[in-house]
Amino acid sequence: MDTPEDFQFLTASVVQQHNPYQEGEYLVIKTYPREKRLCCVHRSFDYSIARNKRDLENLAHDYSSFGLRVFHQGKLYQVINSGEPGIISKQQDWKIHPDYEDAHYDQNAEGEIIVCDCSYPYFSALVSYSSLCNEPIAESQPLTCLVDDEGREIDNCPNCGGRLIIDYEDEEDWEEDYIPTACEGCSNYHGQFYNRNLLVCAIHPHGFDSKSCPDFTS
Ligand SMILES: [Zn+2]
Repeated sequence: MDTPEDFQFLTASVVQQHNPYQEGEYLVIKTYPREKRLCCVHRSFDYSIARNKRDLENLAHDYSSFGLRVFHQGKLYQVINSGEPGIISKQQDWKIHPDYEDAHYDQNAEGEIIVCDCSYPYFSALVSYSSLCNEPIAESQPLTCLVDDEGREIDNCPNCGGRLIIDYEDEEDWEEDYIPTACEGCSNYHGQFYNRNLLVCAIHPHGFDSKSCPDFTS
């Protein structure tokens, strides 16, 4: 029986998103806020059309950023000159293993998918063990969760090298001290950690990427 999802495949724009990217194809992708999957809003083999689409998307969205990439040898690259692949893009079309996706949405599973600042998704698993004094300790251990790199324990991000484990003592300092520049003195600033994710404020949960924020309230 056809489900409503099946009928969506009659729409060209939906089908396009499911076709594999091809060599030399330009992609306009959302670079901020970060999401678990690559969010591609436009695909084209024409560099100037793709560049215009990126500019339009950036003009049309106040709180999202869009970038242009070119698909080359199975990976995304930054675009230089008149459309040539430059350095490799930090954003890639990451494929998360379905088991980890299931665990992420399972209320009973102790772990979740977290997206590194660079766009790389990893699974933060809560592991319990006993301390020397036999007290139970629970800590999160980052694991790889991609289809082709499953379940490896990592301390640093394989994509950008950034440290994924925050030492507990350092984290406490950081919680107290860290206020984004745009938020200093703003009454909307919240700044509490929930499962190691900082909730900056209700209007901009991930903070505002600039020195001044349009919603600053003194
Ligand atoms: Zn990273």
